[in-house]
Amino acid sequence: MQKPKGTYDIYGDKALEMLYFRKLAETLMNKYNAKYFETPIFESSSLFHRGVGETTDIVTKETYDFKDRGNRDLTLRPEGTAGIVRSFIENKLYADSLPLKAWYLGPMFRYERPQSGRFRQFFQFGVEVFGVSSPIMDAEVISMIVNLFGLLGLKGVKVNINTLGDSESRDSYRNALLDYFKPHLNDLCDDCKNRYEKNPLRILDCKVDGEKEIMKSAPKMIDYLNEESKNHFDEVLKYLDEMNIEYVINPKIVRGLDYYTHTVFEVEADIEGFGSQNVLGGGGRYNNLVENIGGPATAGVGFAIGLERLFLALDKEGIDIKELVRPDIYIISMGENYKALSLANMLRLNGFNVEMDYNNRNFKNNFKHADKLMVKFIIIVGEEEVKNGILTIKDNDSKEEYKIKYDDLIDFFDKKIGDNDEDYV
Ligand code: AMP
Repeated sequence: MQKPKGTYDIYGDKALEMLYFRKLAETLMNKYNAKYFETPIFESSSLFHRGVGETTDIVTKETYDFKDRGNRDLTLRPEGTAGIVRSFIENKLYADSLPLKAWYLGPMFRYERPQSGRFRQFFQFGVEVFGVSSPIMDAEVISMIVNLFGLLGLKGVKVNINTLGDSESRDSYRNALLDYFKPHLNDLCDDCKNRYEKNPLRILDCKVDGEKEIMKSAPKMIDYLNEESKNHFDEVLKYLDEMNIEYVINPKIVRGLDYYTHTVFEVEADIEGFGSQNVLGGGGRYNNLVENIGGPATAGVGFAIGLERLFLALDKEGIDIKELVRPDIYIISMGENYKALSLANMLRLNGFNVEMDYNNRNFKNNFKHADKLMVKFIIIVGEEEVKNGILTIKDNDSKEEYKIKYDDLIDFFDKKIGDNDEDYV
C-alpha cells in the first residue's frame, strides 16, 4: 500500500519541526491574545463556493469534493478562512465583544500538481481577526508573520504589500483593466481570457502571462483608489514604518481569492535557489466576507502560511530545528537501572528532557547513541556513583567532565541548561 500522490507522512525530523512550530505559534499567539480554533476538515461544498469564490482556481479546479452516504455535497477544506468565518457566524461569536483574533493550524487539501513546496495535503498556520476595520489591524496581522519568522531566525523573507481598495475603487479599476486588455485579448493565455470575463484583476497575477510587456504597462490599482481607500493604505504603511517592518509595495499582488478588500500581502522567500513556489504565505483584509457567508457585516483581516514551504526555507538557510530541540540529558546506567530510572524521573519532574539507556548497551555504543540523539549532557550512573552519591557528568559538546553531588544536580543543570520548562521554545 502506498500513500496517495501529493501527501507525505510526518515522523522523525518532520514531526519535530511540526511540533516545534506548533508550540512556537501557540506561544506567539498567546502574546497577541489570539484564540485557538479547530473547525471540521470537511464542510458543505457550498461554503467554499461562497467563501473562496466561484471563479477562483481553487474552487474550479482544485477541491476534493465528495458525496457522503447521506448524499450531502461535502468538500475537504482547501483553506482555513471559510471554515473559521462559518464558525464565527454559526456560533454567533459576533455577539461577544470584538475583536476576536482566531488562529488555526491544520491540514488543507488541494488537487494540484505536486512539486517541491506543493502538495495535495499540506499544512497551514493562519490567523483571522474579526471586528476591526481600522488599518491598525492590517499592520498588527503583518507583524505576527514577521515576528514568527523572526523567532525562527529566518532572514530571507520579503513582505510584498498592495491594496485592492474598497468596492468602489475596485470597480473603477476593474473597468480600467477591461478597457486596457480589450485590444490585447489575443495575446493572453486561455485562462486569462476567461479571467477577463469573470475576474480581470486576476490577469495580473497570471503565472503564464505575468512577465509579458502588456502586464508591465497595465493600469495600477493605486491610481484608482478613492480617498478613503488611499488613506487606509497610507495608514497601514505608517503603522508598519513605526514598527520598523520592512515591505515592498508590489502592484502585482492581487491574491488568488475573491474575498479581499483593501490591504493584501504576500511574504516570499528571498533565498537563492528556493524554487518557483516561493510564496510562504499571504493574506489581507476581507470586509465583505462575513456578510457574504450570511453573517452581519463584520470587518475581517487574516493570513495563512504554508508550513512545508516555511520548513524548506529554514532548511535552505541552514536553520536546523533538531538543534533547537536537543535532549538535555542522557543517562548511562552501568547496571544501576533502578537508580537510573528514578534519576530520570526526578530530572523530568524538574523540567529537563531526559533520555536513557534501557537496553544495557556497552559504554562505547551508549556514547555513540547519545551523539546520534544530539544530547547536551551525559550522566553516568554506576556502582561507585550510587555508593558515593556523586555522579559523573559529561558535557557532550565541550567534553568536559564534572563530579556533582546528587543533591546539587538540579542547581547544576539549571545553571548549565536554563531553569525553564519551555526549553522547546
Ligand atoms: P493561499 O491560501 O493559496 O494563499 O496559500 C497560502 C500559503 O499556503 C501559500 O503561500 C503556501 O505557502 C501554502 N500553500 C498553498 N497551496 C499549497 C500546496 N498545494 N502545497 C503546499 N503549500 C501550499
